[in-house]
Amino acid sequence: MTKDSPALDIRHLSVDYHSESGTVHAVADVSLTLRRGEVLGLAGESGSGKSTLAYALARLLPTVASITAGEIIYAPAVAGSEPVDVLKLTERQLRAFRWADLAVVFQSAMNSLNPVMTVGAQIDDVLRTHQSELSRQERAARAAELLKLVGIAQDRLHSFPHELSGGMRQRAAIAIALALSPEIIIMDEPTTALDVVVQHEILTEILRLRQQLGFSVIFITHDLSLLLEIADSIAIMYAGRIAELATYDDLRTRAAHPYSYGLLSSFPRLRGPRAVASGIPGTPPDLRAAPPGCAFHPRCPLAFAPCMSEVPVLQPPPGTISPLVACHLYDPRFRATPPTTSELASAYATAAQRESQA
Ligand code: ATP
Ligand code: SF4
Ligand code: MG
Repeated sequence: MTKDSPALDIRHLSVDYHSESGTVHAVADVSLTLRRGEVLGLAGESGSGKSTLAYALARLLPTVASITAGEIIYAPAVAGSEPVDVLKLTERQLRAFRWADLAVVFQSAMNSLNPVMTVGAQIDDVLRTHQSELSRQERAARAAELLKLVGIAQDRLHSFPHELSGGMRQRAAIAIALALSPEIIIMDEPTTALDVVVQHEILTEILRLRQQLGFSVIFITHDLSLLLEIADSIAIMYAGRIAELATYDDLRTRAAHPYSYGLLSSFPRLRGPRAVASGIPGTPPDLRAAPPGCAFHPRCPLAFAPCMSEVPVLQPPPGTISPLVACHLYDPRFRATPPTTSELASAYATAAQRESQA
């Protein structure tokens, strides 16, 4: 099993929520591969389907949601083990899968920790349930080891979540996720509630742990500039679909999709050249009735006729292999040459000017 082999393969996954006011198509035909040891970033504005995708991977969707299409294939690192079809796991198999193979650190650490149990008791709970062969002393030693791993002093084992700072709570949530040494960790906005300095410390910690323990990470955030700090590859979601799938190098050099460009210039960069935070005009669509064609077309400053009727396919620009872009500007049927960065910049500048005059 090589470092670059897939750990998780998501194939044409679609997820709907059913409500009285209609069906929300929260994830639509998403295909992604998480490679072993990789940090895959997932970015996009609020409501783009990031958490729904994460919950689907862990089979933790609420009952109002259903997976309407697709496959999730997990490939364990253990030599000779068969790929696991996650959507076919029984409830019993799922309970083991969720901790031992794939763990989730939820959007708010405060909510994912149990407020009436000490941190030590919460780690002990996981170990007792899933590793019944361990003695009480062995579990206590493992709990102390896990806290040390995430940079928390051992005496904090006896602390309740409200006695810890926001950063420490987040570290404790990561320690619990690591309890059974999973191969995949999904982190849903793990640093959003933290100040910039603590955010940076946690990101550094995650990268160090990844290096030390070799797990793969799906890191979800609405802040694309954070992903440029931590991710090896980055998937940008819009209206439940992947708009662009790029490597860190692709995106650092240039955002190809008009939405990625807008998103990248919406956040001040933590490092490198500072872009003016301009933002994207308009708001994300209602996913009960997303616009036809490219769902971004009502907000896209470069939209043209095919965008209103045809859904763009996620594919590399002609003659290249990366990034993958779902945009008709890169389709040779419609345009001879892909757009340049200055074309994207000036289209956004014109749209912003028009908006300020309206
Ligand atoms: P955020 O950045 O705000 O966390 P997100 O990208 O994680 O957003 P999701 O929470 O996955 O987005 O939501 C995707 C879509 O599904 C949204 O339109 C949201 O309103 C809808 N949705 C989420 N949960 C439910 C639910 N339980 N019932 C109905 N619709 C839901
Ligand atoms: Fe804009 Fe059209 Fe590309 Fe969608 S397909 S991002 S609307 S140019
Ligand atoms: Mg979310």
